[in-house]
Amino acid sequence: MILNNNIQENYLFVKDQIASAARKAGRDPDDITLVVVTKGQPLSIAEEAIIAGALHLGENYAEEGSRKILSVPQDSSVKWHMIGHIQSRKARLVCEHFNHVDTLDRIKLAQRLDRFAGEFDRHLPVLLECNVSGEASKFGFQADEPDRWSDLLPEIEEIIKLQNLEIRGLMTMAPITTEQDQARPFFERLRQLSGFLAGEFPEVHWGELSMGMSADFEAAIQEGATIVRIGTAILGPRVAAGNI
Ligand SMILES: *Cc1c(COP(=O)(O)O)cnc(C)c1O
Repeated sequence: MILNNNIQENYLFVKDQIASAARKAGRDPDDITLVVVTKGQPLSIAEEAIIAGALHLGENYAEEGSRKILSVPQDSSVKWHMIGHIQSRKARLVCEHFNHVDTLDRIKLAQRLDRFAGEFDRHLPVLLECNVSGEASKFGFQADEPDRWSDLLPEIEEIIKLQNLEIRGLMTMAPITTEQDQARPFFERLRQLSGFLAGEFPEVHWGELSMGMSADFEAAIQEGATIVRIGTAILGPRVAAGNI
């Protein structure tokens, strides 16, 4: 296999940036998980990311991700995260191949994932995707108005009851901006929502906050991200915009 040194270098560089952002915020760099986003990249690039040291990979499309998951060596200890919107009819495929679902955005999907996880006799860690910006283009539980967070409680209570899913925290995407500081209020809002839910459902582990991408991960870390999802800053431009 031909090694692209850039990916190795970029990976180490981004790991360094994560560590210094964590230290700047008075946090332990080990408390932040890097998910390398391989969507739109060929299998060879995903393999290079693994060789560079990536332990968590993220994919947005059920088929594209499943193909890559089946193609990497089976003894690889990499964990695969579903980070894209999941159509209900893809729930089974996602459940069969992915280790984590970080974009659980509705009760109906939760029920389907729970059913298939049961059929595959597995336990699925999930994050609840929340739309904290209110942008119509975004998926997720509607959470832009803190005054209305209590409206979310009945559905979340139903999800908590599902036996084969385990909630681990929340996930969000900030609006696309060029200034990291403009993304901060949205990351802060997700952290506050997590505190609110921890008060309502103390039996659930709300510890994970998946927020921050190539353009805004440092701001996200300052606001408490425990998982950052980074694609282009490590792997370069995607070869395809959609499912490859
Ligand atoms: C594509 C994507 C990313 C990575 O974006 P980059 O800008 O390439 O770092 C992170 N999270 C989600 C949900 C994505 O769809």
